[in-house]
Amino acid sequence: MAINPTTCTSVSVREVGLRDGLQSLARTLPTAQKIEWLRALHAAGVREAEVGSFVPARLLPQLADTAEVVAFARTLPGLVTSALVPNLKGARAALDSGADAMLLPLSASHAHSLANLRKTPDEVVAEIGRIRALRDAAGARCLLEVGISTAFGCTIQGRVDEAEVLRLVQAVLDAGAERVGLADTVGYADPLQVARLFEKAFVVAGDRLACGHFHDTRGLGLANVYAAWQAGVRRFDACLGGIGGCPHAPGASGNVATEDLAYLFASMGVPTGLDFDALIALRARLAGWLEGEPLHGHVWRAGLPKTLRPPARA
Ligand code: ZN
Repeated sequence: MAINPTTCTSVSVREVGLRDGLQSLARTLPTAQKIEWLRALHAAGVREAEVGSFVPARLLPQLADTAEVVAFARTLPGLVTSALVPNLKGARAALDSGADAMLLPLSASHAHSLANLRKTPDEVVAEIGRIRALRDAAGARCLLEVGISTAFGCTIQGRVDEAEVLRLVQAVLDAGAERVGLADTVGYADPLQVARLFEKAFVVAGDRLACGHFHDTRGLGLANVYAAWQAGVRRFDACLGGIGGCPHAPGASGNVATEDLAYLFASMGVPTGLDFDALIALRARLAGWLEGEPLHGHVWRAGLPKTLRPPARA
């Protein structure tokens, strides 16, 4: 039941650099710089951002100021603000913060789930049910989205069965998730695999399947984005400068770069609402804030081709 690419023309991007990007770096960026980063993202047209994670500060001191960052993000007009929530305690903090959405991670890989969350996938599904009950009891509007990580393979376990991923998609929807996405956390996916799994997941979840999250660990990030788009996905996670990784993915080169993703869709005439020049200018500032950390991506070096520039600005 893939959506015909010609019937839906725009793509939206959730910037996840402040969460997925920063959590893999040893340094802690001052809150004031995160706020500047968000302000500039918003000015560049970003309308959805994952800005932190409600995990104990001793585990991720880089994201200890998440409530403060959410509070600022809520002042930016039209910005949908989400934060990662690993458990019920984090969900309480997210509800208190007033975030628009919670991103609940669930590893399709049993081994990754135990290593990362110390729970089996089905224990995580049960926790999602409790988080839904908490949200409903609070009368809060906060949307519940599940990100199924290691959906295409795992550095610990290796192969992850498609049938298990699809079972978990159904299980999290049954437990009360309102949206679900598939993530190639460790950069194992190939475009044919991406197209196949998203097509099957659309049959299970319909339009509640609403996000593709790809890492460019082995250079296939954008090819996988394209395959998912062809399968009907219209919303993607990305990180400015391609930052990010995973503690269980040695050598990971980070998420798909927001500016490269913006270029991919611009080159195909698909609107994203993103201002390419503003993204590139912000990337340069980010390189300064994260001096010494590797940034990735391609298109920032050469800029846009003349064929993509409006005549007045060429
Ligand atoms: Zn990721």
